[in-house]
Amino acid sequence: MAHVSVPMYWRTIPQRYRLVGMQCKKCGKVNFPPKGVCKYCNASSEFAEVRLSGKGKVHTFTLIGAGGAPPEFAEQEKAGGVYPVTIVELEEGPKVIGQMADVNPKDVTIGMPVRAELRRIYEEEGVVRYGFKFVPLEGGA
Ligand SMILES: [Zn+2]
Repeated sequence: MAHVSVPMYWRTIPQRYRLVGMQCKKCGKVNFPPKGVCKYCNASSEFAEVRLSGKGKVHTFTLIGAGGAPPEFAEQEKAGGVYPVTIVELEEGPKVIGQMADVNPKDVTIGMPVRAELRRIYEEEGVVRYGFKFVPLEGGA
């Protein structure tokens, strides 16, 4: 099982708590998570920070069942049942993988409007870890 030390975890908090992408100054595309070199034009390492809305739509999804779940999903796995993991295309362009919450797995559809919410993901060594989950966007896009 992958293990992230606590100090390592705290260093990654800005990205986990704020959806901040890096907009390439050359091609204008938004890189998320931030990269050293733009993954779209591969030619620029100059970026401007952009706050992402967290809104987007389901690009694709998969239903995760028992077995083989990464540690951040182990709690749900222990609770049993199937839950959806989606790749969401954000309004700003980046595609982000995340678990979906507050939805019946069989109601998830491609193109469904969603938004990111900070949620408790799991607890390890007494530290509650937070991350983003996607929830259905009320009222549509
Ligand atoms: Zn670029």
